[in-house]
Amino acid sequence: MSFFSNVELVPGDPILGLTEAYNADTRATKVNLGVGIYYDEQGRIPLLKAVQQVEQSLAAAARPRGYLPIDGLPAYTQATRELLFGKDSPLLAAGRVATTQTVGGSGALRVGAELLRKVLPHATLALSNPSWENHRAVFSAAGFEVVDYTYFDAATHGVDFAGMLADLQKLQPGTTVLLHACCHNPTGADLTVEQWKQVAQVLKERQLFPFVDMAYQGFDKGIAEDAAAIGILVEAGIDSFIVASSYSKSFSLYGERVGALSVVAATAEQAKAVQSQVKRIIRTIYSSPSAHGASLVAGVLTSPELRGLWEDELRQMRERIHALRAGLVAKLAEQGRPEFAFISQQAGMFSYSGLSKAQVDRLRDEYGIYAVGTGRICVAALNQGNLEYVARAVAAVSA
Ligand code: PMP
Repeated sequence: MSFFSNVELVPGDPILGLTEAYNADTRATKVNLGVGIYYDEQGRIPLLKAVQQVEQSLAAAARPRGYLPIDGLPAYTQATRELLFGKDSPLLAAGRVATTQTVGGSGALRVGAELLRKVLPHATLALSNPSWENHRAVFSAAGFEVVDYTYFDAATHGVDFAGMLADLQKLQPGTTVLLHACCHNPTGADLTVEQWKQVAQVLKERQLFPFVDMAYQGFDKGIAEDAAAIGILVEAGIDSFIVASSYSKSFSLYGERVGALSVVAATAEQAKAVQSQVKRIIRTIYSSPSAHGASLVAGVLTSPELRGLWEDELRQMRERIHALRAGLVAKLAEQGRPEFAFISQQAGMFSYSGLSKAQVDRLRDEYGIYAVGTGRICVAALNQGNLEYVARAVAAVSA
C-alpha cells in the first residue's frame, strides 16, 4: 500500500486528445479544425510585430526580474481597464473598477469565482447551453452549483433568444450569470446590441449578477464594438459586475498567460475592499503573476505607435476570419450546399457547423479533417490552401 495506490486516472481532455490524434495522422492533406487557436495563412501561430518590438527593447534593457505586485503590473491593469471600459468611462474616473492581472482568462475566471463564493448570498452559476467546457469545471471546482440557460438554436444556427430570456427570468436573485461578451465559444452565435439591452434589463430586474467573459475582444467587429456589452450593462444601471478578459488571442500570446479580472463595484470604497479580497485569494494560490507577458502587452498599449500597429494587426486577423467564413460559405455553395450560409452570420474563431458526431467522424476517417464531436470547427484554422478541400469534404459527408 503506497500513498497514491488509490488515485484514479482522470480521462484526457477530448479537445487536446484530438490534437494528439491529428499529430499522429500521416496524411499530407490533414487539417486540424479542433483547436482554439488563431493560425495565420501559413498555418502558424502569429508573433505580432508590435509584440516583437517590445520584446526586443525589453531584451536590450536587460532589466532585473523582481516580483510584480500581487495584483500585477500597474501599467498593464490600467491599460486593460481602459481597453475594456473605454478611456473616458465615468466608472474609471470614479474609481469603481478594480482590475487585477491574472494567469490568463482562465485565471480570471477562477479568481473571480473564488471571490464570488465568498461574497455572494449563494454560489450558483448559470451558463449558456452550450458554453466553453472549462466554464463548468472552473466554477464547480470553486464550489459553485452550475445550471444552464437556453442559448443556441440548432434550427437557426443562432441564439434562441426567447428561450434565453425565459430561462434568465426563472433564476433565483443573486445567481451569477456567465455571458460571453462576443465571439461565443463554441457556437459563434452572438447577441445583437438590442438583445443585450433586453438581457441587461432582465439581469437588473431579477437581481442577477453578470459575469462577462471577454476572451476575443477585437476578433469580430472591433475593440470598442466587441466590448459593447460592458457599456450596455452600465447603461442599464447595473452597479456591480465582473469582467474576465484575456489577451491570449488578441495579442496571440497564448503561452504567456495574460488575462485580467475587472470587478465593477457601486462605489470606490467597495472596489477597494473587493480588490483587497482578490489580492488575498491570489496570495494563497500563486502569490503574484508573471511579468513577461504583461510587460509585452503594457509596452504595446502604452506606446501610441505600437498600439496603432497592434490595432492594425488585430484588424487583419479579424478581417481574415471574416474572409475565411465568406470563403467557406462560397465554396460550400459551389458544391451545391447553400444552406451553410449561416457560417457568415456567426462571429469569432468558432462555428457550430451543424455537423453531427457521425459526420465529424467521417471527416476524420475519410479526409483527415479533425473537428470537435459537437460539430464545432475553428474557422481561424482554415487558410486558402485547405479551404477548398475542407468545403468539398464537408459537402460530401453532409450530403
Ligand atoms: N473564455 C473563453 C470563452 C475561452 O474560449 C478561453 C480560451 N479558449 C478562455 C476563457 C481562457 O483564456 P486563456 O487561454 O487566456 O486562459
